Amino acid sequence: WENDFDQDLYVGATVVRPGQDPYARNKFNQVESDKLRMDRAVSDTRHDHCRHKQWKSDLPASSVVITFHNEARSALLRTVVSVLKKSPPHLVKEIILVDDYSDNPEDGALLGKIEKVRVLRNDRREGLMRSRVRGADAAMAPVLTFLDSHCECNDHWLEPLLERVAEDKTRVVSPIIDVINMDNFQYVGASADLKGGFDWNLVFKWDYMTLEQRRARQGNPIAPIKTPMIAGGLFVMDKEYFEQLGKYDMMMDVWGGENLEISFRVWQCGGNLEIIPCSRVGHVFRKQHPYTFPGGSGTVFASIQSRLEMKKRLGCKPFKWYLENVYPELRVPDHQDIAFGALQQGGNCLDTLGHFADGVVGVYECHNAGGNQEWALTKDKSVKHMDLCLTVVDRTAGSLIRLQGCRENDSRQKWEQIESNSKLRHVGSNLCLDSRSARMGGLTVEVCSPSLTQQWKFTLNLQS
Ligand code: UDP
Ligand code: MN
Repeated sequence: WENDFDQDLYVGATVVRPGQDPYARNKFNQVESDKLRMDRAVSDTRHDHCRHKQWKSDLPASSVVITFHNEARSALLRTVVSVLKKSPPHLVKEIILVDDYSDNPEDGALLGKIEKVRVLRNDRREGLMRSRVRGADAAMAPVLTFLDSHCECNDHWLEPLLERVAEDKTRVVSPIIDVINMDNFQYVGASADLKGGFDWNLVFKWDYMTLEQRRARQGNPIAPIKTPMIAGGLFVMDKEYFEQLGKYDMMMDVWGGENLEISFRVWQCGGNLEIIPCSRVGHVFRKQHPYTFPGGSGTVFASIQSRLEMKKRLGCKPFKWYLENVYPELRVPDHQDIAFGALQQGGNCLDTLGHFADGVVGVYECHNAGGNQEWALTKDKSVKHMDLCLTVVDRTAGSLIRLQGCRENDSRQKWEQIESNSKLRHVGSNLCLDSRSARMGGLTVEVCSPSLTQQWKFTLNLQS
């Protein structure tokens, strides 16, 4: 491909002009992306043990499916070239690019000149789920590999994924997803101690493994990691199994949620999700979508009747089973909770600081990992962490709040959300939870005011 594809001609046609915002089109720095060679070297971020590993010689070939909508040409090209460069040729049957109605049909069409690349173009915007299904339906190899359109595969990324699926087709596997920095495009290795999870806004997140989980892995740091959830963009799945399990819901539009849905479905319907540490693929994580949501992002709900019937036919286990057996680390809000999760103030969160009864509380940078930052506001008006409650021992402004064992009907432990759930007021004193003294002793109650130190927001409000 180095010889017969003219990168400068292809990428040069869409450069960012002087004075233009390099983030405008892609929400990542396109100028930096465009500077890189399509086959740039990235560092091998794998664990040392991976370097001595031998893979089975009779692995099945895979069809790589990449959907895109208005992707930066340089990023799309690097994705394709890295697949070709970092995979044993006999394991990549083809690369299927599904152009999801990008403004310029040439973005995809021109790549059709590269070996193994097939380009399919939607004649209207379908969104990533239907686009992936279109790619999967067209695939000729027995195993599907899905990638986003801004990835870079690392050394021997494909073999360990294919090996797991070849051994057992009900395994759905994903690499460790390294980070391609959206500002400078540096390739940075990600932690190998993460699992995929979600919060109760149904947003994907990374969970740091518990100490026990990390200890258990010390003997074999490159063993597959069972994960409750996959990030969704990058994974390998047996094609027949993908079909048997119902592909994706074809009524899902644009982007989002499909990773949770397929993760629940795989686990509940008899499969497994794994992260394979010896496989690493970089991905450009960004903070915003570069594309529009036709019809609006809030109006994408459709009937799931046929999906429910399918799950019945497949004999899938209930969601409760998933929560108890696959994701026991996840705290589940109960019917006593009004609000739940972290209590956020900007980037900081209410934190027990590891204290117990009679300790003070403080704030700490939000880590989204639950633990000391997990709180619930209950119907009986307590603000609870496990069986500890926020307690106003002294009802005067400026006094420190303490953690004490929760007691029924103790007015020192009664709180309510006020001003559209933006503040927490102690009912008995009419004072508000305040972080102004967080660095000088701990959180206090103060006379309610518009101060930013009194603005608190739960991750999830169950009543509005
Ligand atoms: N995508 C698509 N059609 C859409 C929206 C997204 O084909 O309507 C593609 C997009 O180009 C990317 C993949 O789907 O290759 C995942 O989207 P994105 O990278 O924006 O998701 P994120 O990685 O940020 O979760
Ligand atoms: Mn992406």
